[in-house]
Amino acid sequence: MAKKTKGPEHCSFCGRTEAEAGALLHGMESQICPDCILQGYQLLGGVVSTPDGAPESAPLEALHELPKPREIKEFLDDYVVGQDEAKRYLSVAVYNHYKRLMQPSSEVDGVEIEKSNILLLGPTGTGKTLLAKTIARLLKVPFTIVDATVLTQAGYVGEDIESLLTRLLQVADYDVAAAERGIVFIDEIDKIARKGDNPSITRDVSGEGVQQGLLKLLEGSIVNVPPQGGRKHPDQKMIQVDTKQILFICAGAFDGIERKIAHRLNTRVVGYNSPRSKMGKYEEEELLRYVDARDLKSFGLIPEIIGRLPIITFLHPLHRDTLRMILTEPKNALVRQYTKIFELDGIHLTFTDEALDAVVSKTMEQKLGARGLRAIMEQVMVEPMYELPSQGITEFVVDASYVEQQLQKGGGLIPN
Ligand code: ADP
Repeated sequence: MAKKTKGPEHCSFCGRTEAEAGALLHGMESQICPDCILQGYQLLGGVVSTPDGAPESAPLEALHELPKPREIKEFLDDYVVGQDEAKRYLSVAVYNHYKRLMQPSSEVDGVEIEKSNILLLGPTGTGKTLLAKTIARLLKVPFTIVDATVLTQAGYVGEDIESLLTRLLQVADYDVAAAERGIVFIDEIDKIARKGDNPSITRDVSGEGVQQGLLKLLEGSIVNVPPQGGRKHPDQKMIQVDTKQILFICAGAFDGIERKIAHRLNTRVVGYNSPRSKMGKYEEEELLRYVDARDLKSFGLIPEIIGRLPIITFLHPLHRDTLRMILTEPKNALVRQYTKIFELDGIHLTFTDEALDAVVSKTMEQKLGARGLRAIMEQVMVEPMYELPSQGITEFVVDASYVEQQLQKGGGLIPN
């Protein structure tokens, strides 16, 4: 912003005339236009202080106007199939988060509701991110999903830990007070686990160092956030964000943690003099149900982080019947989506039960959870989506043999 001295009728910062700028605020010896006032405001982190010093931002509605845990869960049921435990934990956590934000100052009765960050464990493609995205639609506070894999310890290539909060600030339109009540969903938290079981002697750039940094955010502290994210650099103006009230929901697949759980359970069983064979009855997926802090520690999370994630819940692997339901039941189920796509061309699309079973079978082979459903469906549907709109037909039925035929072509090749 070059300072120009064109005379009293110009903005002293950008030099525009009053006519160009719309209005000017006159000071003793200079003037400023609304745009420059706004830029200054953004430079300060977008915080406006009220006379008593509290930042201004939209107040949260009264608790009775907010959805109750049961209502939150019912809303999730419309979009996410199964995963009841995780839904309940999330619903309660979000509701309690609201309560915490509304609680009067702890000095009144000495009782302070502390935040309970959550850890969601579950295989890939079972609905962890979907749960987070769905709950976001309902939330009355800023919410963002970030990926832990891009983070590295300060001084290394990658993003600084504080950049997790940049996205939150962005969705809150840089309203710091609003961001400070928000919820951050950190995906792939397992990817920052320490590589070995023992504390590292050498530097572990992407593991322990990042966890130490993350710990500061989880436990609540005032951090300097780069407004545009990425790496901090010396002349960048930072925005201070207090993370005390921010709720963190972490998620990860924790591949292989079942072995750690089995190992722990096994030693205990043996320790209690029970037959070793008892372990055999634990199916691998059942084991996740027994996960606790000790397994997370052997997986490579530092105890301090685990301590800051007091709620641990898990998502079930998806079986045939769940995958089948995912195809048709959620409000925006894939079958509903394709039906709508064809409806817009005046074509009534139907899938036979056997066709959907065939899609599920193929998806099961790929072991990508429900994520595989979309890819398989695309492969089946690309040709009809390409051909049918120009054929002028009004009815199209997808049956099992059509599914097989399209899948055999592979890659959804469209004949000329
Ligand atoms: P992850 O557990 O790896 O985060 P996602 O939530 O991203 O998996 O799931 C990938 C896709 O699979 C979602 O976009 C959704 O379409 C589908 N999906 C996964 N789990 C479910 C579920 N329980 N109910 C409905 N759809 C699901």
